[in-house]
Amino acid sequence: MGETTVIKPHPGSDSGSVIDVTNPQTGEKIYSLTEFATAEVEEAFVRARAAHETIKAMSVSQRLAELAKLKRYFLDNKDHVVNRVVEETGKSKMDALTSEVFTILDMIDYYEKNAEDHLRPLKVKTPVILMPKKSKIYYEPIGPVLIISPWNYPMNLAWLPILTAFVAGNAVVFKPSEWTPLKGLIEDIVRDSGFMKEAIQVVYGGKDVGRRLIDQKPARIMFTGSTRAGKEIMKQAADHLIPVELELGGKDPMVIFDDANVDRAAHAAAWGGILNCGQTCTSVERVLVQDKVYDEFVANLTGKLGKLSTVQTREGVPDEGDMDVGVMTAPFQVEKVVEQIEDAKAKGATIQVGGERVGQSHCVQPTLITDVDNTMKVVTEETFGPVISVQKFSTEDDAIRMANDTEYGLSASVWSADTDRADRIGRNIETGNVSINNVLATQANSALPYGGTKESGFGRYKGPHGLHAFSNIKSVLIDGTSQREIFWYPYSKEKYVLMSKMLDAIYDGGPLWLLKLLPTALKLQGMAKKSGF
Ligand code: NAD
Repeated sequence: MGETTVIKPHPGSDSGSVIDVTNPQTGEKIYSLTEFATAEVEEAFVRARAAHETIKAMSVSQRLAELAKLKRYFLDNKDHVVNRVVEETGKSKMDALTSEVFTILDMIDYYEKNAEDHLRPLKVKTPVILMPKKSKIYYEPIGPVLIISPWNYPMNLAWLPILTAFVAGNAVVFKPSEWTPLKGLIEDIVRDSGFMKEAIQVVYGGKDVGRRLIDQKPARIMFTGSTRAGKEIMKQAADHLIPVELELGGKDPMVIFDDANVDRAAHAAAWGGILNCGQTCTSVERVLVQDKVYDEFVANLTGKLGKLSTVQTREGVPDEGDMDVGVMTAPFQVEKVVEQIEDAKAKGATIQVGGERVGQSHCVQPTLITDVDNTMKVVTEETFGPVISVQKFSTEDDAIRMANDTEYGLSASVWSADTDRADRIGRNIETGNVSINNVLATQANSALPYGGTKESGFGRYKGPHGLHAFSNIKSVLIDGTSQREIFWYPYSKEKYVLMSKMLDAIYDGGPLWLLKLLPTALKLQGMAKKSGF
């Protein structure tokens, strides 16, 4: 651990060959796995299509009964899941428990309480011109869906979309990241919990396997990962017209006004920026602080970051749930973070605390950088590591302009004692999620839809929107009458004039619109009845 750990080369490959999965804290190989060949990719879809027929015929409550088995499993096997995740990601045990296990349990709980409501046929209003017909919406399964996930939350970003797709009635083909495949874990969970067999097909491999999965024409793709890969996937999906849901990168701002509780905001910035070693798509990456409290905030956050326990500060003491920060997962990401720190230093930024990678290990110190500007990568590019930059602002307009000065739009937070002002600023930030006087809080509520804007992607999952994203939203209109419609053939000049009058009565008739409509409507009905068509 620490100084002596040497980063191994990228374990994955696109050649259909062997992937070495290593422990990022120790650098030791854990196991090897062989990427799936094309035939195995095809077989996964054959099995998924067969399973889909069974799942779509199940009621929502039958699907929820399957989820209850998973809930029991996760409750009884928290430590096992945490240990597997820690071994492959290098994160702290507490990060694994809260971000990987808690989130899954909470989503199951949410679906148990709400999924039947969200998926029940929905009666909607029928306009007067269509009276006395009835209208409703069905939420129906769409077919096997493909879920592709990154390495930063390998359980959370597997199970949350998988459960959502399954509850909506779909079989799932799932490809984990080649960096954190957690080989066999999902299969073990399905077997040991008694969850429906064949509902989830796990396919192992890198991006080439991902491409071959897309060629199997899933009904929908839910992708979580980099903006670069999201664009590639969308291009490939376009050839088959497969709808995509893209959850991509972020460069999230935290806006702190001078009436905020500075100590609480600094505490939140420390957690929101360093959680999961900064490898969270909604990490606090850019803190914008109003000038009056800037110095106080920087001093406070510097002190807090300096106190965090890391693999380095613990000097080999094992994590029993009491280590704050783990190590970074992927070596290429470590290189990228170090490059951003060096770039900022070279351009005149000040490192308030941290700023170093420990030897050649995956351990990067929790880092606070000030005196930054838009010439620096740490301000303009996604960092995805334990680095927070702080900038000063004066007015509300400055805060909004600086918060929006990014190509990303995933999440943000606004801090002020004046919650009306915080809300007003939140409304003006181009983003998918805003927490007021908290950080990363929207994600903690499974009822809130989650997703991004701009280069952070599009589509929403969680809440009712998530279930509907995996549904064919079918509109139904039921006509119980035997009359001919007034607007059907044959057309005539007289009918044209009456139809025009009818539109005036309905949409411009004022409070007496119904009285104005009736004589015209009756004439039109008479014409429809008499027509010899
Ligand atoms: P990545 O895009 O390199 O890989 C993600 C997954 O996509 C992997 O399974 C990979 O094998 C696969 N993949 C890559 N290219 C592909 C292609 N052309 N076709 C099919 N599959 C392909 O991302 P990563 O490095 O694993 O993850 C880090 C990124 O994920 C960061 O940018 C982070 O912000 C983002 N992320 C976003 C969210 C969100 O909810 N918005 C959540 C977590 C992570």
